[in-house]
Amino acid sequence: MASSTLAVNKVAIIGGGIAGLTLAIALKRQGIEVSVHEKYSHYQSHPTGFLIWSYAIKILQDLGVPVDAFGAPLEVFRMHGRQGRFVVDMPIGEISRLNGADSYEVNRLRLSQTLAEMVGDDLRLGDECVSVDSTPQQAMVTFADGRRLQADVVIACDGANSVVRQFLHPDVALNMLGSGGWIAVIDQIPPGLPLGYQMDFWLPGCKAGVAQLGHGETRWYAAFTEMQASATVSKKQQILSRLNPIPDLIQHCLDLTNEDQMVYTQAGDLLALSSWYRDRVLMIGDAAHATSPYAGMGACAAIADAAALAELIGSGRPVPEIFECFQQARKPVADAVIQDSRQSLDRSTSAGVRAWIRDLIFKNIPEPKMQEIVQAMVSGH
Ligand SMILES: Cc1cc2nc3c(=O)[nH]c(=O)nc-3n(C[C@H](O)[C@H](O)[C@H](O)COP(=O)(O)OP(=O)(O)OC[C@H]3O[C@@H](n4cnc5c(N)ncnc54)[C@H](O)[C@@H]3O)c2cc1C
Repeated sequence: MASSTLAVNKVAIIGGGIAGLTLAIALKRQGIEVSVHEKYSHYQSHPTGFLIWSYAIKILQDLGVPVDAFGAPLEVFRMHGRQGRFVVDMPIGEISRLNGADSYEVNRLRLSQTLAEMVGDDLRLGDECVSVDSTPQQAMVTFADGRRLQADVVIACDGANSVVRQFLHPDVALNMLGSGGWIAVIDQIPPGLPLGYQMDFWLPGCKAGVAQLGHGETRWYAAFTEMQASATVSKKQQILSRLNPIPDLIQHCLDLTNEDQMVYTQAGDLLALSSWYRDRVLMIGDAAHATSPYAGMGACAAIADAAALAELIGSGRPVPEIFECFQQARKPVADAVIQDSRQSLDRSTSAGVRAWIRDLIFKNIPEPKMQEIVQAMVSGH
């Protein structure tokens, strides 16, 4: 029977996304019993892609995750400025390797599938959590079909629209930032896109980017400030009408993409929740600290949360101490990521004189300062 002074033996994880699956893999390696309960009975049908920085790739590699199965190393982040022209190359590969692992451009669907295979039968698909309950002694999950499950602790990894968060913070909702856009993965390589390069375009009111994912695939995205998607105008037309002139590379991506491969997302975040836990229920990943995607850090933070929590649970300390130590270690970092991502949205989509000054500063950035910026990105601080 669970007790506040006994070590954690049985962990119920709500959500089979990046945080939940990584946590399950890390806990299973320590011999701790886990069950992962994922709402959907299948993984997303349209693949999307994103960037995972060196520090999070290192965690995955240390857990034995075969990262080459779902991505390709990033060497250079090439920034283009307000007129779509080259501004600066950031040496991601070189500095990542000094930190112990490459940074990777990743196919998110393949990443989920790889992690899910490693979790095996402990992942239960089609298990939707509708509520949780907790006392200082035990935690309880209720599923949509009425089943109930008791565990030593419940870890909420159920993402930005977390159901479990309502148990902890019934009045908190995601702050929608007004920006949104499309992301797609295609199984072709557009002309002018070398392997190992992320081509980013920081245009007035728009941030767009393209990178190869390995395996003959490319991911691209185009996000706009003040965006509400229309259901009556084609997705490509909505992009073309907002991007004039459109960078050649983005046009090539549009030419190679079918409309049904384009996934719409709207940016929202959760800044500085007062607490991430109550009794025996703790939130990690986007459930605790959803961030807009502009700093490219949300999945990395979810992976880092999972590794830090697994280590604390494995230490055998009492639950209240584990949760408090976890929150003290991870919350300041996660809150800083959210702030940074908001600033990044503003910086990368600014217009007029501000954009002109930004481009000038990045063009003339001294090498030691550039190394400092890249070091902060690849190491997560
Ligand atoms: C467009 C875009 C681009 C991004 N780019 C980057 C990037 O470049 N780098 C980066 O590091 N991050 C990026 N992110 C952020 C990243 O995707 C998230 O931070 C990350 O997925 C969070 O992981 P998570 O496991 O906490 O949540 P999720 O990955 O959202 O997983 C939550 C899981 O919980 C399940 N679930 C939800 N409700 C329930 C329930 N009631 N019961 C059971 N299961 C439930 C969901 O189905 C899902 O599988 C991006 C995000 C977006 C939207």
